[in-house]
Amino acid sequence: MQFVSRSAWGARPSRYALAYIGSTRGVKVHYEGSPVPAALARPENHGQCAGRVRDIQASHLANRDEDYSDIAYNAMVCPHGYVYEGRGAHRKTGANGNQSLNQAHYAVCAMVGDSGLTNPTDAQLNGVRDAIEWLRSSGGAGSEIKGHRDGYATSCPGGPLYAWVQRGAPRPGGGSGGGGGTPPTGGLARYTVTINGLVYGYGAHGDHVTAVGKALVAKKFGRHYSEGPGPTWTDSDTENYADYQKSLGLSGSDADGVPGESSLKQLLGYLPGGTSAKPAPPFPGADKFGPGSNNAYVTALGNQLVKKGYGSHYTEGPGPRWGEADRLNVRDFQLSRAELRGDPDGIPGPTTWRLLFS
Ligand SMILES: [Zn+2]
Ligand SMILES: [Zn+2]
Repeated sequence: MQFVSRSAWGARPSRYALAYIGSTRGVKVHYEGSPVPAALARPENHGQCAGRVRDIQASHLANRDEDYSDIAYNAMVCPHGYVYEGRGAHRKTGANGNQSLNQAHYAVCAMVGDSGLTNPTDAQLNGVRDAIEWLRSSGGAGSEIKGHRDGYATSCPGGPLYAWVQRGAPRPGGGSGGGGGTPPTGGLARYTVTINGLVYGYGAHGDHVTAVGKALVAKKFGRHYSEGPGPTWTDSDTENYADYQKSLGLSGSDADGVPGESSLKQLLGYLPGGTSAKPAPPFPGADKFGPGSNNAYVTALGNQLVKKGYGSHYTEGPGPRWGEADRLNVRDFQLSRAELRGDPDGIPGPTTWRLLFS
């Protein structure tokens, strides 16, 4: 499971203490029920997902008719398969319609709407399944999987998601794992791995992804690219990498198109990433960065981004005045690091700073 904790997505505190719940009969599945842009599902737009969760929490906290104590859901799942902790396990939801419905089931909401993005992605269905299994193992959820509309007058969770719920919420491709766990046995692998501190696999982003694509093309394993290779890992990268793995005699989950350390080292001739022993300069504080900032730390940040290979958005500079190119380059770096990619907001925090300068 690719889990994003409340602190990782920047949750605000609850308005008052959340009601404890020992167990439930199961989980109800929800959707946003308002327009969700279709483009959100593109791999490079994962950077928007944590912000969407923050917005939904803010709208629930502001809803004085419902008097929510927090975001109503126990978890939310983005189109890239990440599970965002909402109220969390052993906390009563506020989303199912009334007190007895909230007592009976947890609530998991997929970022799918009534227009735009209406069909959940395979990664997302795996993520919803991950969230359900997490609420079973960590929150005492029973075996029921239902839709919001079961027992309450609403169209939620929308036609496509509800049809999936009625089929028993199977993992796409029939695999037993998903998200950051075991790859599905059918269809294309949509999970990621971290090797030497860098992320590879569907949705991973960075110059190290471009380097893999170029090396595949050089070794004549580029036939699945219709464009690229580029810095965002797509299904074409997975298919080409799988061809390369098969050429090494690998099979099964070792040839699913997601790199392992030895095949990667063999492809590139070296293993990218890693850290030096040099200590990072002290983090100057988040208030030194972002729109309106103009100081030497912004220049130092930009220079280090360029040095690490994350300078592709600069058309000039870097310089002391914060610009959109700084934000995009920081975002690219954050998307390349397992510790940061849950909330790639493009503003450096202490962890981004430490990893960038190490
Ligand atoms: Zn609902
Ligand atoms: Zn996402």
